[in-house]
Amino acid sequence: MSNYDYDLFVIGGGSGGVRAGRIAAGLGARVGMAEERYMGGTCVNVGCIPKKLFSYAAHYAKDFADARGYGWQLADAPAMDWPTLIAGKDAEIGRLNTIYQSLMQKAGAEVFHERACLLDAHTIALQSRTVTAREILVATGGWPFVPSFPGSHHAITSNEAFSLEKLPESILIVGGGYIAVEFAGIFAALGVRTCLSYRGPQLLRGFDSEVAAAFTEELRKYADLHLESNVTRITEQDGQLRVHFDRGDDITVDQVLFATGRHPNTANLGLEKAGVALADNGAILVNEQFTTNVPNIHAVGDVIDRVALTPVALAEGQILAQRLFGKGKRKMDYDNIPTAVFCQPEIATVGLDEDAARKRHGEILVFRSRFTPLRHTVSKRDEKTFMKLIVDKASDKVVGAHMMGESAAEIIQGVAIAIKAGATKADFDATLGIHPSAAEEFVTMRTPS
Ligand code: FAD
Ligand code: NDP
Repeated sequence: MSNYDYDLFVIGGGSGGVRAGRIAAGLGARVGMAEERYMGGTCVNVGCIPKKLFSYAAHYAKDFADARGYGWQLADAPAMDWPTLIAGKDAEIGRLNTIYQSLMQKAGAEVFHERACLLDAHTIALQSRTVTAREILVATGGWPFVPSFPGSHHAITSNEAFSLEKLPESILIVGGGYIAVEFAGIFAALGVRTCLSYRGPQLLRGFDSEVAAAFTEELRKYADLHLESNVTRITEQDGQLRVHFDRGDDITVDQVLFATGRHPNTANLGLEKAGVALADNGAILVNEQFTTNVPNIHAVGDVIDRVALTPVALAEGQILAQRLFGKGKRKMDYDNIPTAVFCQPEIATVGLDEDAARKRHGEILVFRSRFTPLRHTVSKRDEKTFMKLIVDKASDKVVGAHMMGESAAEIIQGVAIAIKAGATKADFDATLGIHPSAAEEFVTMRTPS
């Protein structure tokens, strides 16, 4: 046993920190953890979970409308009671906070609900005391970034969007990534007049460009879209916000939400006192083993700015804890990470997009299917589904699967197993479909286009 107070001290009780701390304690390590805000971190409190609950709420809007096509007579127009949604969401988050707390306690870890920072490579200053540890894990996540311009303080971020006192009548969302398009779908469906402005020519940079284009077409059906536009100034006027753009135009809305990325949470953590090297954007630099240039200080999750997704932070935390306190030798595999954007309609993807596949494999075959799902033939909902498979011609391996449409996340999760296992297009073709379903298109696309 070492002379340190703990074998491992974890700073940050989010996805990565909790997973690493719990596994390490289970392997016999004496674990301490500091969480300054909320157990479960971003995902549980202001990320995946409340976002998905809002997204479920949003889906009802279209379902009510669809139901009429199927003969349901809805006597009154359905109305959204925002406080009920917020209360339901808060109750679920409270339940999850307790579960995360008891997970750590049952594993035998000690949790301090306070801020921590480093004094040196083995000493951590908490607000209530100072402790020492042999190994230290920094899993402090990220924080929303809002560019600086006159009036930027009027803007909210996703953090505040989850607990607005009342639903605004109108909103401008700035950004073209995950959070911007997810909130555009949510607010529009809840009846908010929604405008989205993005600095580039095409939303969802990094996603397959055809999927992004198909989605943009759908988004235009429910939101006012300003592409290649930048906010230059926000002023307050009679309780509303007047937003000025660099193209000279302006709009007046109740709320402005900036979803312009997140920055690693490394300020005022004492990392410089411990000699930990950072990248230019503040991310902690780690090697393949998640260890920094200081051999006993490690980092996982959003703070290392690799892939900012909960399952990635969980996997990184687990691999690190098993290496430090077990016999784990597994390396993190960043290939074929499936991901979904819970926008409307949903997008999910695994593997390479068409451009990346062409660059990596040279000759590829692309299979596409764009159709109106059976369900919407009767509901008359004006919404297309788009699916795409990308195949490496030489090996016949499926190297990318992309979908925009209902249940895309649920469908692509299954396809991801096949792709991870190295399935070929011939394997997809030999698989029988489930009929009638949208998912069966993935095994019935026969002709490349
Ligand atoms: P976090 O979960 O951010 O945890 C870091 C913790 O450290 C925080 O609780 C913080 O309070 C604490 N902390 C920071 N500094 C200190 C300190 N000095 N002392 C003590 N404690 C400290 N990912 C998905 O996979 N699917 C989704 O659908 C999804 N939706 C998202 C929606 C939104 C709106 C956002 C913002 C993110 C979403 N993500 C989603 C991303 C996901 O939430 C993150 O990738 C994940 O939470 C990262 O986990 P982490 O452990 O690295 O950091
Ligand atoms: P993203 O990186 O996805 O998107 C940020 C957007 O803001 C991009 O469109 C970017 O433009 C734009 N932007 C960046 N800087 C500026 C600036 N200075 N001025 C104007 N626009 C700017 O980040 P998000 O904030 O949407 O989400 C953070 C991360 O959290 C995501 O990357 C994802 O990893 C994770 N997340 C995952 C979700 C999921 O799994 N469903 C949901 C939500 C978040 P450009 O493309 O031109 O750089």
